[in-house]
Amino acid sequence: MGPLQIKDLLQQAPEGQAVTLKGWVRTKRESKNAIFIALNDGSTIHNIQAVAGPEQFAETLIQQVTTGSCLRIEGTLIASMGAGQSVEVQISELEVYGTADPEKYPLQPKRHSLEFLREIAHLRPRTNTFGAILRVRHALAFAVHQYFNEKGFFYLHTPIITASDAEGAGEMFRVTTLDMDKPPRDEQGAINYKEDFFGREANLTVSGQLEGELGALALSKIYTFGPTFRAENSNTTRHLAEFWMIEPEMAFFELADNMDLAEDFVKTVIGYALEHCKDDLDFLQKRQAEEDKSKPQNERSLPLLEKLSFVVDNPFERLTYTEAIEILLKSKPHKEKKFQYPVGWGIDLSSEHERYLVEKHFKKPVILTNYPKEIKSFYMKLDEDGKTVRAMDVLFPGIGEIIGGSQREENYDKLLERVKEIGIDPENVWWYLETRQFGTAPHSGFGLGFERLVLFVTGMANIRDVIPFPRFPKSAEF
Ligand code: ATP
Ligand code: MN
Repeated sequence: MGPLQIKDLLQQAPEGQAVTLKGWVRTKRESKNAIFIALNDGSTIHNIQAVAGPEQFAETLIQQVTTGSCLRIEGTLIASMGAGQSVEVQISELEVYGTADPEKYPLQPKRHSLEFLREIAHLRPRTNTFGAILRVRHALAFAVHQYFNEKGFFYLHTPIITASDAEGAGEMFRVTTLDMDKPPRDEQGAINYKEDFFGREANLTVSGQLEGELGALALSKIYTFGPTFRAENSNTTRHLAEFWMIEPEMAFFELADNMDLAEDFVKTVIGYALEHCKDDLDFLQKRQAEEDKSKPQNERSLPLLEKLSFVVDNPFERLTYTEAIEILLKSKPHKEKKFQYPVGWGIDLSSEHERYLVEKHFKKPVILTNYPKEIKSFYMKLDEDGKTVRAMDVLFPGIGEIIGGSQREENYDKLLERVKEIGIDPENVWWYLETRQFGTAPHSGFGLGFERLVLFVTGMANIRDVIPFPRFPKSAEF
């Protein structure tokens, strides 16, 4: 089934055995005595070196071997004399599958800016940096499924098109087949969605949670892992218009169980990457250190592997929102009026507040709980005081909120009251409300933005660089 991957070839003992290589040229170097080709097939950050004699092949063929061209090489695996690799391939046959005109091919062997690479997202997976990111991203996704499978969770596929506008998690993208130029109208002149494909307004989902709860109230432990859409016009380094969210939902879990799961889950998947992505993380660590050189000392981050190990090895700090506000009120930046946004009980913490708590005060991940009900979603379980809800946000250094979750309100009357309070038509969510009438149960869950996790693990700075083809305002080219 295809040639052996370069990753595996590099592990073989060189005994002059015949091998086939297929991949893309990273560099070609010609000396008096030999031609050296560094080939990469994306299976590993490392290239394999292939060597030919100076006059072994026609000059016209060798000229086609340039950075970015694609080759098939037959040869033998031998011990390498050169520094930097233990094995190399002595070429016997060389075929050029595809050339890459050096005058036009945009990826040359030098450092390209991330901004430039975003403009050539169709080619950037061929760079060392994006190869490493995409392999780490894969490993994390695999670890997510493995984790839940081992813990008895079922993978539930919640819909991507949804007609419930009750999630309230953000602005939605409309899904319609109506003619945009002349949509059908009712007597009042409003667009008549009864004539639309679903016979009602429909959107792309902002969260699979509500349907996830339906699954948890039958299968006990489920998780979703799928694309999620938010039409917020937020041009930040932490928001995408299309991202992947992981949402476990568990019957019979209270807030403390939910926190324990969230902490164990992120530690386990990060631990998986540390164990299985050593070469890529080493590369990304060096890359980050390079980037940091241009930053002032106090803005430099810990070496990547150290940062990840620290998170895996240390308990997260847990405190209530109210306690967090007290810390912020006593903080130096507050007293010196250095925060841009005011601090006080009831505010929605802004990222400067979150970062102060995580990066300055505790210097580790923090789980904040029991937020004021006004700033959280309607489905969160009300605390006894009637003022706060059983919410929990996990905050990470450099990222801010990585997980948002809660214990859900399982009491029908209280949930209905909250639904009305925030102006949702109960008719719209009748099916959600009905779960609280038929065998309701205490239950909890959370949402982890997958790209925020990948951002943290790779040490990258912009969320647009940890998804293959990012979607953000004014950009959906690739
Ligand atoms: P934020 O306040 O950071 O915008 P949120 O509170 O709107 O996030 P939730 O609705 O709680 O986010 O979503 C759960 C998780 O999904 C967040 O903790 C975050 O990891 C991720 N997330 C939310 N919005 C985005 C986005 N636009 N792009 C990427 N990830 C996101
Ligand atoms: Mn949130």
